[in-house]
Amino acid sequence: SSDLNNFYGFACGDKILRQIYSSVSVWMQPGETAARISGDRFVCFLLDADEERIEALFSAIRNITEENLILHFSAGVYVIKDYDENINLMVDKASVAAQTIKGVLNQHVVYYSKKFDDMTAHNEELKRDLKLAIKNDEFVAFYQPKVDINSGKLVGAEALIRWRTRDNKLIAPGDFIPLSEKTGLVTDLDMIVFEKVLAFLRTSLDAGVECVPISVNFSRLHFSNEKFLPTLLQKMEKYQVPAHLIELELTESAIFDNFSIIYDFTEKVREYGVAVAMDDFGSGYANLNAVLRIPFSAVKMDRSLLSGVSSDPQTATFYRSIVMILQHMGYKVIAEGAETEKEVKLLEKWGVDMIQGYYFSRPLCE
Ligand code: C2E
Ligand code: MG
Ligand code: MG
Repeated sequence: SSDLNNFYGFACGDKILRQIYSSVSVWMQPGETAARISGDRFVCFLLDADEERIEALFSAIRNITEENLILHFSAGVYVIKDYDENINLMVDKASVAAQTIKGVLNQHVVYYSKKFDDMTAHNEELKRDLKLAIKNDEFVAFYQPKVDINSGKLVGAEALIRWRTRDNKLIAPGDFIPLSEKTGLVTDLDMIVFEKVLAFLRTSLDAGVECVPISVNFSRLHFSNEKFLPTLLQKMEKYQVPAHLIELELTESAIFDNFSIIYDFTEKVREYGVAVAMDDFGSGYANLNAVLRIPFSAVKMDRSLLSGVSSDPQTATFYRSIVMILQHMGYKVIAEGAETEKEVKLLEKWGVDMIQGYYFSRPLCE
């Protein structure tokens, strides 16, 4: 794919393409076809394939170890029953199924079924609603406090998007951010939240309130837009909000996709005095590499790591050691998702810098 070409060069990309083809073709019979249709999308037509052969074919791709790479892929299988069906439609259906497991760990293959059609319809509806909701200004920012572990004081907050529908229902980001990321709408949502935060800070500053830095989540999709940084700076200028009151949160999937772009971006934006935190540390892969190479100001430990800490000694040791490593590297460490006193006590003992979690407060409206 394009990532492979960026990281390892075209020659390597081509080599891997050939490797994929030769691994797959072992499991193909005369009259069957495998082809690349674009970038990193492939189609394979099989005659009378049973599940076993399909499984073998995909295992062959998983077992490619060319250049020590692990190939991540998601595949959709569409069983053709109606030979008169439009071939593009067949490919679309396999593709829709594949999309649903993109990024899901340890699931590479999914069979298409009728429920995916319903899902597509539901997504179309949600897409329309989201666009309308943007027009109607239905998105709001909630704020969750970050507490300094030593002083017990409020030292920051994270802005978290909520969708307040016209019938006054509050919808959590988990229900619309994933689709917004697929459609690209998320970049608009991020900017909406960013402006709300700037306006909130402006009003508070004007009222003479002492403000703490507020962090805003930004999707990886911004990084293909070279106007991203100028836009951020221009908006801060517009609201006359000082840079030290703004922090950006990037997730590790953002970083994995665009290493050098994120590196340059982080370095530049920090020169302006804006802090950049790595979000959800420990929830995926490739993140150790990221904290080694990208000049973040802080690292947020993922909530999933913390949840095992008070029951499992190994998890606790692991968590504490990671905190120590990160702090030795000069990072401020923020623990996400502390819910119990026991967890807070442990985090205190381990010298974590800040805690953000239900124990202190849920996200609050303005
Ligand atoms: P995140 O950036 O890692 O935000 C932390 C999430 O953990 C928030 O969920 C927060 O409410 C939740 N949380 C904090 N403390 C606790 C706790 O003690 N227990 C439990 N169970 N949960 C806790 P929320 O608000 O539902 O947001 C989920 C995710 O949606 C965020 O994860 C972030 O990735 C994304 N998101 C939220 N707002 C935005 C936004 O404006 N732009 C983008 N691109 N993504 C956003
Ligand atoms: Mg965050
Ligand atoms: Mg997080």
